[in-house]
Amino acid sequence: MLRKSGADHCEVCNRRFKAAGARVRHELPRTSVAVYRRVGEWSYRRRVCERCWQRHEEYEAETRRRFVRDNPPGPLLAMLRDRDADEEARTAAMRMLVELGVPDAVPALCDQLEAPSESVRCEAAKLLGETKDARAVEPLCQRLHRSVADEYTSFFGEPSFLMAALADIGDPRAAEVISALLTDRRAYRWDTVAGDMDVSMSDGIADALDSLGGPDLVFDAYERALHTPDEFVRDHVARDLGNILWRGGLSGGDDMSGRQLGVVRRMLVTASRDPSERVRHSAESGLKNFRR
Ligand SMILES: [Zn+2]
Repeated sequence: MLRKSGADHCEVCNRRFKAAGARVRHELPRTSVAVYRRVGEWSYRRRVCERCWQRHEEYEAETRRRFVRDNPPGPLLAMLRDRDADEEARTAAMRMLVELGVPDAVPALCDQLEAPSESVRCEAAKLLGETKDARAVEPLCQRLHRSVADEYTSFFGEPSFLMAALADIGDPRAAEVISALLTDRRAYRWDTVAGDMDVSMSDGIADALDSLGGPDLVFDAYERALHTPDEFVRDHVARDLGNILWRGGLSGGDDMSGRQLGVVRRMLVTASRDPSERVRHSAESGLKNFRR
């Protein structure tokens, strides 16, 4: 059904737009029809004629049925159990299982969280986040716990994928293991992402906690981190809290209420009496951002 399409052809049926009844519908931003080109590869057609647009739901259902028929889940599940399957095959099989909406996909993907290859583990985490299936919460938490137990693991690697998946699922059972990350000095490293924007890992952790339990959960975690023996951590907690006051909210969240800003301020007042001069200094600078 899909043929090479030029600019003047419908990308689904390949009819010329100039033909009667084949008016172009690509002006609408949401005009898209899902099709698959190759096994496991979905794409969206945006230059679609009036007729294909009218029956796009029917067309997508038909495409999906064809996809499911061409890709029975049995061999895909078997491929994931095959120790000799390479990374690419494993990743493709995982994606397809999620696309197919197979109920057995979730336990199979959870097993891949323990795969020897880090890229396979990260892909499994990402896909589990997409499923939003609560069965993945415990395995993701356990993997995150083990992953950060290795002191050479950067939080920007595998842990950030695991954390994002847990935030996507949004189950409060993940709060404990993610909160604990803020007591670790690796949480306060910066990295350059998406070109030139510098991001702090702790902002990402705070955003994940925010999506699990709102700002109060974030402050509980910072409160705990403020009482760790590590001066470096306490110093950075004070800086983060100062930044929160400066922004009037968490980096990815809404503006905070007066009560919430008051909680942050009280933590900074506590930090301004810290035994370390460095921490006291950061806390005092942060308090200058409180303007209510
Ligand atoms: Zn068409």
